[in-house]
Amino acid sequence: MSYRRLLRHAQWHQRRKEIMRRDGFRCRRCGKSGKLNVHHKWYIYGRQPWEYPDRCLITLCERCHRRLHLLRHVDYFLRLAVLLAVAYFIYLKYHHV
Ligand SMILES: [Zn+2]
Ligand SMILES: [Zn+2]
Repeated sequence: MSYRRLLRHAQWHQRRKEIMRRDGFRCRRCGKSGKLNVHHKWYIYGRQPWEYPDRCLITLCERCHRRLHLLRHVDYFLRLAVLLAVAYFIYLKYHHV
């Protein structure tokens, strides 16, 4: 690991620990302790993972974390599907023979 990467790792590690301590080392969704992840509620382009404000970071157990990311993907695909359906509808409306 390079020095830069090591530094990044150390900084994120420190930030994670702060957030987990704030949340009492428990998942904010189901209250379980155990293997915990710190999740970003949103992303800001070009920002380092530890440069986010406290309100953006949340402690989650592995299960809740995985589920949340899965939901996010489903949400994305649903939106895309709706967009395509609308586009297709408009296409049919104006391009019928
Ligand atoms: Zn996450
Ligand atoms: Zn959980």
